[in-house]
Parts: sequence; structure tokens; C-alpha cells
Amino acid sequence: QDLDRLIAKSVRDVPDFPEPGVVFKDITPLLADSEVFGAVVAAVADHHRGATVDHVVGLEARGFIFAAPIALALGAAFVPVRKSGKLPSDTLSATYDLEYGTATVEMHTDAIAPGGRVLIVDDVLATGGTGRAAVDLVRRAGGTVVGFSVLMELAFLQGREKLADVELHALSVV
Ligand code: IMP
Repeated sequence: QDLDRLIAKSVRDVPDFPEPGVVFKDITPLLADSEVFGAVVAAVADHHRGATVDHVVGLEARGFIFAAPIALALGAAFVPVRKSGKLPSDTLSATYDLEYGTATVEMHTDAIAPGGRVLIVDDVLATGGTGRAAVDLVRRAGGTVVGFSVLMELAFLQGREKLADVELHALSVV
């Protein structure tokens, strides 16, 4: 597929970041190419256009970059899921395991309309921990998760297994 090739060409592998042995997928070259960035936003929006989407949830921080224009393209509300301590009003929070320690993400309690239909967007799906926490937050807030879209899925980390109950949509799989 063409878009898949464009994405592969415009995401840069950075070895040993953020620690030795990890190859980090750096999306900044893709963001610098408005044609590819625009094609990614359009492809995700098109994939979900048939379904009613009331809210597009973006995961801090790189997920915000994609989720905001996708929300505008779908005429949906943008909702941030943030790392703990950043959101100013009442929040719901979810904690998940990292390789060493835990991480917590939060969403405003009033961010999702009752019965709201929610698309979750992030840049990269790795182990699936962040995505799992986001799905649980949306459901606890009373929303229905209609899809989870990522630019890139790192299949060898098997994050998909943690999201078996969600319609997972990856524009490129490596
Ligand atoms: P997970 O919770 O292990 O699936 O990690 C996903 C989160 O970490 C996402 O929010 C990504 O932004 C970030 N992430 C993990 N690996 C990479 C990478 O190689 N490039 C960019 N972001 C990454």
C-alpha cells in the first residue's frame, strides 16, 4: 500500500533511544512533510467516517498531534488523555505497568458525553499498556470505544493482544 510505504520512508529509526537496545521510531520527519502528515490524517478520518464519532481521544504527547486534526476532520470533540497531574479539573485515572515501575494517565471526568462514541488515536502502539489504560478510562467515563487508530504498530511487542476487545487500526505495521 502506498501510504504504508510513505510512512516507512518518513519515520526515522533512532537506535539506543531512550535507552540502549531500544530502536525508537522518530515521527518528526513525517510531521515535517505536510503531504505525508496530511495523508495520514485523511486516511484515519476516512477509515472512521462511516461510523459516528463524537470524541477523538489523543494520548499525550505525540498522539495529540494526530488526534487534533483528525477530530476536526470528523467534526468531533478533541479530548486529551494526559500524564498524571497535568489536567486542571476533576479526573479519572488509570495506572499500568512499565518495564520498570508504573505510569498513570488521566482524563477529565466530564470529557465524554453519556454514551459518547469515541475514537482513540496515538502515534505508535508498542506494548499496548498506554492504549489499554486509555480504553479503560473512556469506558469508565461512560463512552463507547468505536476504534483505536495508530500511525504505526510495532507488532513484535504484541500490544494488539492487550487490545483484543477494540477495533484496532494501524496505518503501518512493522
Ligand atoms: P506502549 O504503552 O508500550 O504501547 O507505548 C506506547 C506509547 O509510548 C505511545 O504513547 C507512544 O507515543 C510511545 N512510544 C513507544 N515506543 C515508541 C517509538 O518507538 N516511537 C514513538 N513513540 C513510542
